[in-house]
Order: sequence, then C-alpha cells, then structure tokens
Amino acid sequence: MTALAPASAPITQDVLTLPRKLPEGGKVNIIGLTRDQLRTALIDAGTPEKQVKMRLGQIWQWVYHFGIRDFTGMTNLSKDYRAFLAEHFAIELPEVVTRQISADGTRKYLVRIQGGHEVETVYIPEENRGTLCISSQVGCTLTCSFCHTGTQRLVRNLTSAEIVGQVMLARDDLGEWPVQGQPKDETRLVSNVVLMGMGEPLYNFDNVRDAMNVVMDNEGLTLSRRRITLSTSGVVPEIARTAAEIGCLLAVSFHATTDAVRDQLVPINKKWNIETLLNELREYPRLSNSERITFEYVMLKDVNDSDADARRLVKLIQGIPAKINLIPFNEWPGAPYQRSDWERIEAFADIIYKAGYASPIRTPRGEDIMAACGQLKSASEKLRKSGKPM
Ligand code: SAH
Ligand code: SF4
Repeated sequence: MTALAPASAPITQDVLTLPRKLPEGGKVNIIGLTRDQLRTALIDAGTPEKQVKMRLGQIWQWVYHFGIRDFTGMTNLSKDYRAFLAEHFAIELPEVVTRQISADGTRKYLVRIQGGHEVETVYIPEENRGTLCISSQVGCTLTCSFCHTGTQRLVRNLTSAEIVGQVMLARDDLGEWPVQGQPKDETRLVSNVVLMGMGEPLYNFDNVRDAMNVVMDNEGLTLSRRRITLSTSGVVPEIARTAAEIGCLLAVSFHATTDAVRDQLVPINKKWNIETLLNELREYPRLSNSERITFEYVMLKDVNDSDADARRLVKLIQGIPAKINLIPFNEWPGAPYQRSDWERIEAFADIIYKAGYASPIRTPRGEDIMAACGQLKSASEKLRKSGKPM
C-alpha cells in the first residue's frame, strides 16, 4: 500500500501497474516511454552510445510525428537497424473495440487494453478546438456518489503506453497524422487533452506524468502544457508534484461548499477536507506558472445548488485565480440524484459571475451515446450487471 492511498481504499501500485515488456517475445513497447527511458532501452538492447542520440530523435519523429507503426516504414534508418529494432521493440497501441458517433459529433471509443479490460475515450469537437477526454484507470478506487465510474471497482492503473495510446488512436481515427513531404496542416483536430475520463489520475501519478511528458514533447505530439487539463477529486499530496513534474492546467472536482456535503459527494474529502484542499490549491498557480484553476461543480438538485452554496463557494475560493465550471448532472440508470433545474443553474451561475468569476455552464455532449462527463463505465462491467454473457 502506498503512503498516499486513502485508508478506506488501499491500492497497491506494484500489483496494479504492468511491467513495460510485452508478453510476446519480451519486446519493449516504445509507446509511452519518456525520451530518457527510450534512450536507456535502446542502449540496453545494443545501440552504440555514440549513435543513440540520433537514433532516438529519428525513432521519436517516426512514431510521434508521423504516427508510423512499423519499423520497415522508418526509411532513414538502415535496413539492419530496422531489423534490430523489430527484434527488440514493438509499437503497440490499445485496440479500439467500438466507436460510437453522437448526433453532435462527439465520438466515444471503447478501448481494449492488455488483460482484456476496457476503458473509454471521448473526442469532443468544438468550433475552435477538439478536446480528447482520456482515462487513467480502469474503474476508480474512489466512490463519488454521483459518478458512474465510481460504482465500478478499480481493476488496474493504465500504463503510460495505454494513456498515450488513447491520444494516438484518436488521431488515427480522425486521420490526423501529417503525411511526409506534404505541407504541415496547422489546424489540430485533437488540440486539447483532458484527464477527465475514467479514474483518478493522481492515484496513477507516475504513468500519467510519463504519458503527459510524451504528449507534450515538442518534437512529437506537441501539445503544450496549457492544452492539457488534469482533473482530480482532491488528492492533496500529489498536487505540488503535478505542478513540478507535469505543469499542466489543473481542475478540481469541488462540488460542495461544506465538509458535510462534500463528505457525501466526494468521500476523499474525509481524508483531505475543503480547507486542506484549498490551502494546497492556493500554491498551484505559482508552482506551475499557470493562470488559474478550474473548479468543477456538478449541479445536483436540492443537494448543492442553493444561492447560499453559490455565495459560500465564492467566499471559499477568494484569492485563488479561478474559473468555475458548472456541470449539469449527467444522469445514469439508477443514479441517486437529479439534475438541477435550468433556472437554478442560471441563478447559481449569476451569483458567481457577479462576484467576478467566469462561470461557464458545461453543455453536456454526446449524451445519446452516454459519453458525457461521469457516465463512462466499461462495457464489460455494464454487460456483467445486465446478466448478459461476456
Ligand atoms: N477522477 C477525476 C477525473 C474524472 S471525472 C475527478 O474526479 O476529478 C471528470 C469530472 O466529471 C469530475 O469533475 C467529476 O466529478 C465529474 N462527474 C462525475 N460524474 C458526473 C456526472 N454523473 N455528471 C456530471 N459530472 C460528473
Ligand atoms: Fe473516481 Fe473522479 Fe468518479 Fe470520483 S468523480 S469516482 S474520483 S472518476
């Protein structure tokens, strides 16, 4: 058990995280390795140290800039070196099992990872950008009472390869890899990444960090750290590390303005309460050199949506550069809550806006394919519950 796991839900990183070597032939999967890790792996396999810098740069560009999946396509490497790579390495992504496209253009991918487990990845096209919502765990150790993923137990952490792989498979599906020799198209279909799918990213810190460093690398996928948002339920001890080792934007699942209510909605609050969380958040913008924190607030009818809540919220976050993102509750079968009425959400937003904060109301996207925030849950789990054979 790690020192950071909540006492009520122990997780063991050693058991849950897979080794880097793939089962077939003990090959090392290149996907998800940081530059340093890939460098070491190339040397360990027998690449002469003198060559490694150049080789690393070439491979990196083929894999992450051009999206090449086969060593034979790496045409600026000698035939012998390509054969050497194929002998020791693989370029392996998780597999897309199904793709659903919503009437509003949202795409939901059901993705199968090693061991037959499944996670969901969602692509949300908007006017000026495209946001990819990726998962960090299969299920979640936490049990937020309004979240569909929270009803599913944690199966395991995703590896760095499986996290980076979600970005790559979305680019595959959208046909977004540049073609060699053709002018670079500057419009990005996947322009933003949010860690808001299944799982608590800060309980899978090392893999999430490595994966985001690959995604942010400026010679590959090149998403800047300001285009990546990590959402946490409030794992306080990992917040400063997020600033130092990832440096992306932070969103926090706040959802309540008293400890009594937050204990019910986001049970991790019993371990790190509102005051402890806010004290840690005050440091984040300075440590990460980012402008502001997003406070996510799910609107639950008669639970956390009163005018008094809105006023308390504003008071609590005073002094923290912030944006408040109101999320109309996305209902799922058997959910113990209802979405707040639209007038209530607007009245709540108005109080926040008048206090000087941006308070966008998140439009639910992809509801017809159950792709909205907090509705993700692996298909195998759904089938198991419904009694259908898997
Ligand atoms: N585990 C992380 C990230 C995943 S959840 C976290 O909790 O922050 C992404 C966002 O969706 C969180 O703010 C979460 O609280 C919210 N959410 C979960 N279930 C929801 C639901 N049914 N309706 C609306 N938002 C929900
Ligand atoms: Fe886990 Fe986030 Fe859902 Fe809470 S809201 S159960 S932390 S995925």
